[in-house]
Amino acid sequence: MAGTKNVYLFGKGITEGNGSQKNLLGGKGANLAEMARRGFNVPPGFTITTEVCSYYYAHKREYPATLNADIKKAVAALERATGKKLGGSKNPLLLAVRSGARESMPGMMDTILNLGLNDTTVEVLKAKSGNGRFAYESYRRFIQMYSGVVLGVERANEHEHDPFEVILADARKARGVEHDNQLTEADLKEVIANFKKLVLKKTKKEFPTDPYQQLDGAVGAVFASWMNDRAILYRKKYKIPEEWGTAVNVQSMVFGNMGDNSGTGVAFTRNPATGDNEFYGEFLVNAQGEDVVAGIRTPLKISTMAGIPALKHCYKELCGVRKQLEKEFGDMQDFEFTIEDGELYMLQTRNGKRTAQAYVKIAHDMVKSKLMTPEHAMASADPEAIEQLLAPVFNKEAYQKSLKAGNLLTKGLPAGPGAATGTVAFSAEKAERWSSHGPVVLARVETSPEDLRGMLAATGILTARGGVSSHAAVVARQMGKVCVAGAADIEIDYAAGIMTCNGHTLKEGDFISINGSTGEIIAGKIETAPSELIQVLVNKTLAPKHSELFRYYDFVMKLADQYRKLGIRTNADQPQQAANAVAFGAEGIGLCRTEHMFFEGHRIDYVREMIIFAAEYAEYKDKLVARPDDADLLANEYHIAIAHFNDALEHLLPIQQKDFEGIFEAMGERPATIRYLDPPLHEFLPQSNDQIDLLSRRLNVPFERITSIVAGLHESNPMLGHRGCRLGIVYPEISEMQTRAIFRAALAVAKRKKKLPTPEIMIPLVGFDREFQLQAEVIHRVAAEEMKAAGKKIPYKVGTMIEVPRAALTADAIAKHAEFFSFGTNDLTQTALGMSRDDSGHFLPYYERSEINIIKVNPFASLDQVGVGKLMKLAVDAGRETRPDIKLGICGEHGGDPASIDFCHRLGLSYVSCSPFRIPVARIAAAKSAVKELLEAAPAKKAAAKKTVTKKVSVKKAIAKKAAPKKAVSKPAKKPVRKVKK
Ligand code: PEP
Ligand code: MG
Repeated sequence: MAGTKNVYLFGKGITEGNGSQKNLLGGKGANLAEMARRGFNVPPGFTITTEVCSYYYAHKREYPATLNADIKKAVAALERATGKKLGGSKNPLLLAVRSGARESMPGMMDTILNLGLNDTTVEVLKAKSGNGRFAYESYRRFIQMYSGVVLGVERANEHEHDPFEVILADARKARGVEHDNQLTEADLKEVIANFKKLVLKKTKKEFPTDPYQQLDGAVGAVFASWMNDRAILYRKKYKIPEEWGTAVNVQSMVFGNMGDNSGTGVAFTRNPATGDNEFYGEFLVNAQGEDVVAGIRTPLKISTMAGIPALKHCYKELCGVRKQLEKEFGDMQDFEFTIEDGELYMLQTRNGKRTAQAYVKIAHDMVKSKLMTPEHAMASADPEAIEQLLAPVFNKEAYQKSLKAGNLLTKGLPAGPGAATGTVAFSAEKAERWSSHGPVVLARVETSPEDLRGMLAATGILTARGGVSSHAAVVARQMGKVCVAGAADIEIDYAAGIMTCNGHTLKEGDFISINGSTGEIIAGKIETAPSELIQVLVNKTLAPKHSELFRYYDFVMKLADQYRKLGIRTNADQPQQAANAVAFGAEGIGLCRTEHMFFEGHRIDYVREMIIFAAEYAEYKDKLVARPDDADLLANEYHIAIAHFNDALEHLLPIQQKDFEGIFEAMGERPATIRYLDPPLHEFLPQSNDQIDLLSRRLNVPFERITSIVAGLHESNPMLGHRGCRLGIVYPEISEMQTRAIFRAALAVAKRKKKLPTPEIMIPLVGFDREFQLQAEVIHRVAAEEMKAAGKKIPYKVGTMIEVPRAALTADAIAKHAEFFSFGTNDLTQTALGMSRDDSGHFLPYYERSEINIIKVNPFASLDQVGVGKLMKLAVDAGRETRPDIKLGICGEHGGDPASIDFCHRLGLSYVSCSPFRIPVARIAAAKSAVKELLEAAPAKKAAAKKTVTKKVSVKKAIAKKAAPKKAVSKPAKKPVRKVKK
């Protein structure tokens, strides 16, 4: 890394980085630089780049050769800027060392404050501040943080208390006080002496006194924390690549614990839970750093600052900061500040994490008021989170009944909206374990990042301490979990496994319900009800005009529709599913699995009848071809099989026709892709003796005969056996029946509804172009017969799934006959990887472990873009070469996964197809990919424009002007402006 710049300074007058360098400086470093540039009062500091972190991990945890010298130079610059000296005996420079990845990972990595303190500098701090308590309190905090993070002196497990907190608790007890800030200077000196003894005992070394040694240790610990368990888990959940690394921000300290005209706080420019345009935050007077987020003292609402004479002017300033931040950063901001001796400092700002409900409201409000560009609204969306909007709420009656019955235990702070009911668990480990048996509510005194696993597993999270921006609340909101925080009336005794509240006692394992929208904590189980959006869109029990949430959702969805290039279809086999999908915005059906229609009611009887006699019927046909002169003889010999086989198909035909009519009616003129019978036949046959007996009596076929047919159809590898188009090739009568059913249905609906359904018939599991040709011949022949008989034409297409590697490799030949391809990535993944989609659960989790690191994500959930993706790309290119206008889609489960959708966007597919409830997610994901592409293209366009235009225009504004017509910003157009590829 010779010649590479490892360290960037920021602060008044010396800012080297800027807000666009998030990849290099991390989110925090880039925004600190940007705030400094824009005149916010930022304490000076420097950022060690993420590239250093990558280097560190690529070189067995060694730093670049020049880093030490670079840091020394940066410290010298800080010393000049502040007039202080690190380790100085007159005016010591004290530092804060914080992590800062490209995307914020709240609470996942480490922070150290007050670095530079030792037995000498603490005395200088005391003399300068004239406040011995403050100086020793700062020192105490530093030793505690440093020992935990750098020296590894921590509690051994979650059942133990933090050993430093134990020392503090003893000191509080000895002094007879409740809070740490009531301890005297002398108490704190004793606490510090005990801390040091603990460190010596645990590490066999004295606590380091040299500030440069301290800094060296702190920087190393922050880089190392990139690989701690909770950071790894967090990255996995949010798909943050390990290669990104974290930056380290070293900043001169400002103190919020200098007295009653000092304080510290975190605030959101809007409410991150509801999206309301209100100043939302909290602070503590005379407190430092992480006190607010750690939940150790319950903080005050930000608005109460206006009533504190010593801080009143700061509140006014904060209100201005709130407005200015939104204007400068174009999004709702989550910021940290410290007030030192009446002066306000900004410590960080970032785009605030928010619930899905807040996301749609903020996007709606800020885009409309032109504070946010529509591109940013899309680019900053978390598509997965949109599903939260469909999450259940409490059933109103059950909820009222429970309140009336006196089950309300208490109220905490509403920190993550929604309703959760489940068994209460007091440890992350239990929450994780119990969650496999049903919903769990994790209740903790306060959560720490170690609880992440439990929070992931729980439906709801409850804490006794901490504010709305405590770790629990921030993480819960982001995960879309219901959360109630800071329920001070609750006491949890981990050892006894009980929770008490206002005279009630709940045992661990009892049912509890929490309302994250109101903060209510209720004993017992309460039925949940569908979300407002489900009531509007699916159940139609709520009129759209009565739902504000729907209005915001609808605005965002329409915005998404203007940007996305991918069409969105659904996988649906029933009319109701199809109708739901249309309500969610589906533009067609991408996969109707016809076999799902075979199981209902008595249909299975006819399916079984067809299968039992299929082989014999095929034998009859073969003989007929070989001995045409013996037609009568053969008809007589096989009359039972012929009669049964035809009888079964005759019964199935109208049933399938009715199903298809339902589908066509629900879809109107939208295209409906109907896939022909796919699973191996044995899946339909009875396996138990009782069932075989029943069938034998119904069909009047001996029990032994059926048993032998069932055995004959048994396959060792049914997924690679007689399934897909292989069925239709051996038994073309089945494809013929399905074709007749489709066309009769389409013709009937066309007549009734005066709208032309557009079936797209899809042949499964094709590997040879000849397979496709044979099936297509049947379809075209029967379609022509049916349309001729009705005297009406139905527009239709015949295409195939690409779900075995040979199909991808020979896509050019298949495309000669197939009018569309749909990637069946469930099967394509299993056949490309040679990994059974049903059995891989035994070993895939092991493959995903970070120390094994074979795969990053389950390839059946998120596309293996390198392998399977390559096959898809081959097929896309080859298919287009033969048939330039070939329609291309995906209907495997990956069609609802945002990362896979992004890949499909980049491949230039026409559409993705997913389950109805994933459609909002897919719409947003597709728009996000399109906007990302637009923004990536912007710098190139800007560079080209620079040559001709001299006036400076910001990239953001340039894109906003170009990409979004004015109409789109204030009011999304009714009809999407983009063209959906059909
Ligand atoms: C697929 O294989 O991706 C697919 C959609 O088909 P099925 O899941 O029905 O095999
Ligand atoms: Mg398949």
